[in-house]
Amino acid sequence: MAKIGMSRIRKFIAPYRVTDGKKFRLKDCDPADTAGLKEEKKRAKEILTGGVNLLAELQDKLCAQDRWSVLLIFQAMDAAGKDGTIKHVMSGVNPQGCEVYSFKTPSAEDLDHDFLWRTNKCFPERGRIGIFNRSYYEEVLVVRVHPELLGKQKLPPKLVTKDLWKERFESIADFERHLARNGTVILKFFLNVSRKEQKKRFLERLDLPEKNWKFSEADVKERGFWKDYMAAYEEAIRATATPWAPWYVVPADNKWFSRLVVAGAIIHAMEQLDLRYPVVDEAKKRELAAARRALRSE
Ligand code: ATP
Ligand code: MG
Repeated sequence: MAKIGMSRIRKFIAPYRVTDGKKFRLKDCDPADTAGLKEEKKRAKEILTGGVNLLAELQDKLCAQDRWSVLLIFQAMDAAGKDGTIKHVMSGVNPQGCEVYSFKTPSAEDLDHDFLWRTNKCFPERGRIGIFNRSYYEEVLVVRVHPELLGKQKLPPKLVTKDLWKERFESIADFERHLARNGTVILKFFLNVSRKEQKKRFLERLDLPEKNWKFSEADVKERGFWKDYMAAYEEAIRATATPWAPWYVVPADNKWFSRLVVAGAIIHAMEQLDLRYPVVDEAKKRELAAARRALRSE
């Protein structure tokens, strides 16, 4: 990807970025799209390696500069490839500069607080990249598809009205705006896998012994709610896509392609930060020269 150059990356990822939800429709997004590229896996791997190296350089500067932080949110249906994407795209970055949080079923303590509480402790520090494998978006996805989950949240009944989802969207949008204003770059990825491809991947998990451990009966049950999930995703994206916290709706039927889009989107966003190593001032230069002299004369 490093070799492709920024202008090509920009063009390549632009169709998948949503910064204004009003016109967004999920049906316009083809999960099998590969932007006309028919890269073989091997070529795609090479390009990704270039991207991963570039990302490592950018992260090093992000850390040295210590001003911005980067938050990457991954949402998807099961088997869409969240884990693999995170693993491959972030494979080159220094583990010290990056944190991954997976948000699963909330704990009793989580449920005793507002719905943004549990993620609050997990936002990346300046200079770091934070990755959310699932996020507060589950609160307008799984919880919306299964309203009984809302019942466990101990909200005062008076506050549970027909406006609840709209209010959650507003809370999320406000919060993301607040983070953006304080130096967090937010990118949200929806790995858009098709129902057909999910079936294929589930069957693979059943058929290949080394993939058996990944199979979960619950995932197959959730598949039954596909339409409800898609409706919830569409509404969530429509309500929360903004220029400062864009959604990328990533075609995810081809893993090599979704990884390229995700890597490209992160590189694109970080390139815009004008990241640089801090400049050494005159006083510091004198200090370095003195240290060099002292070491040499030992
Ligand atoms: P993998 O299956 O690859 O390990 P995963 O993210 O699917 O990763 P699981 O443990 O299988 O992890 O599933 C986590 C479950 O927790 C998902 O079904 C998700 O919808 C659910 N979940 C996450 N956040 C919430 C929430 N706020 N309220 C209710 N359920 C949630
Ligand atoms: Mg799962």
